[in-house]
Amino acid sequence: MDQSRRRFVGQCAAVASTSAVSAMMGGLPADAAQTPPLRNWAGNYPYGTTRVTSPTSLADVQAFVRAHARFKVLGTRHCFNGIADSTDQFLSLREMKAVVGLDRSARTVTIESGLSYGQLCPALDRDGFALHNLASLPHISVAGACATGTHGSGVNNGNLSTAVSAFEIVTAGGDVLSIARSTDPRTFQAAVVNLGALGVVTKVTLDVQPAFTMRQDVYLDLPMAQVREHFEDIVAAGYSVSLFTDWQRGRINEVWVKRRTDKGETVTASRDFYGARAATTNVHPIVELSAENCTEQMGVVGPWYERLPHFRMGFTPSSGKELQSEYFVAHSNAVDAIGAVERLRDHVSPHLMITELRTIAADDLWMSPCYQRPSLAIHFTWKQDWPSVRKVLPMIERELAPFAVRPHWGKLFTIPSAQLQQRYPMAADFKQLVARHDPQGKFRNAFLTASLYG
Ligand SMILES: Cc1cc2nc3c(=O)[nH]c(=O)nc-3n(C[C@H](O)[C@H](O)[C@H](O)COP(=O)(O)OP(=O)(O)OC[C@H]3O[C@@H](n4cnc5c(N)ncnc54)[C@H](O)[C@@H]3O)c2cc1C
Repeated sequence: MDQSRRRFVGQCAAVASTSAVSAMMGGLPADAAQTPPLRNWAGNYPYGTTRVTSPTSLADVQAFVRAHARFKVLGTRHCFNGIADSTDQFLSLREMKAVVGLDRSARTVTIESGLSYGQLCPALDRDGFALHNLASLPHISVAGACATGTHGSGVNNGNLSTAVSAFEIVTAGGDVLSIARSTDPRTFQAAVVNLGALGVVTKVTLDVQPAFTMRQDVYLDLPMAQVREHFEDIVAAGYSVSLFTDWQRGRINEVWVKRRTDKGETVTASRDFYGARAATTNVHPIVELSAENCTEQMGVVGPWYERLPHFRMGFTPSSGKELQSEYFVAHSNAVDAIGAVERLRDHVSPHLMITELRTIAADDLWMSPCYQRPSLAIHFTWKQDWPSVRKVLPMIERELAPFAVRPHWGKLFTIPSAQLQQRYPMAADFKQLVARHDPQGKFRNAFLTASLYG
């Protein structure tokens, strides 16, 4: 590992000059100078208050909502920007994490929304059921993930929010609303990926399917020329496929192919994958890091929830001290968009730990980055050096602008509000819904103002 990679632990001094960028990276209020700030998971973002209330019942949530003029719900704090931030109060549902019920015939599970995927999945598997997909890590809360359109990979797999079939939400007035895909599809499509703007999601119902098993095989050094030539076959080579690259030497460093093995068929992985060779040991996406915290590879069959994520519960996912950005383009533009970023490699690579390329099926959720668009997501795990990353992001965004790129809501971007809103055809309707449910802006924060109202 080179010296600069070893030094990525640098503190992120977020010196921001525009409101959009400061909503990205936060800033401490004057009265917080004495107490250490509450930070997000990566530590790069200091929240504007340390005041956190953790109710244990729906009635307590309603009372809190009625008593406070402004606050934000905090999930598991895994976003890299200010989307969850508040300068007033936080409401955390971490004490409300029961599995409310599994409906075997309807194939749904209902949970309280403080639950994380890591807490839900083993119990669901024991009951013989599975979710359709997971993100790279299981540590995140279900409600927080669905609020931002969090996703895994797979050409036929929608993001995690597409598993939601109903949810319960406490709106700004303290009223409890149940919104279901089957009974009110329009409000449902508007409110699942809600960016935390609509209210407190207290329960979520998710579609489930019979539990399945998977194997994960990793291939090293896939030539970029093969990606250009065989992109469709490569990303469809498994149920979920991830391509990791540092954009150097004209190759994808690692291809992670996750295949289902639940139909009784024997899957034999070949040693050669479009010119890449099979790894001979478990590897981390950043090849220099230990694979100890990664899910089992080498074709070993295991349960879906221990193969779909890249990182194991109980271990630090990814690298820890990092920043992340991610950009979505239409699947039909995938090869051109990859080429566009590759052209920037000399700007990108000095600040990069690793890029991951994933595909996601289209959905009909208004504020989802995959709204009506089968997508390729181009992800960047950056060294924790915001001043440098902040200079690179506009270059990437400019290169990807011809593809009407949409950013991940929970990661770092600098796309101005007007452009952002243009790229979400239902943004104006979403804001109308927000105005109806939250007329006083109780759930509004600097991030939402900068992103949707700038
Ligand atoms: C190491 C790492 C790996 C990641 N991997 C992936 C990945 O593979 N794919 C991907 O798409 N993203 C990934 N992410 C991004 C991240 O998981 C998501 O952005 C997700 O939103 C984080 O969920 P959270 O509960 O931590 O949300 P928080 O950051 O706590 O909150 C996010 C938003 O959700 C709202 N919210 C949370 N709970 C509720 C609730 N009950 N009611 C209403 N609003 C609520 C908050 O107000 C806020 O607006 C990764 C992040 C990290 C740190």
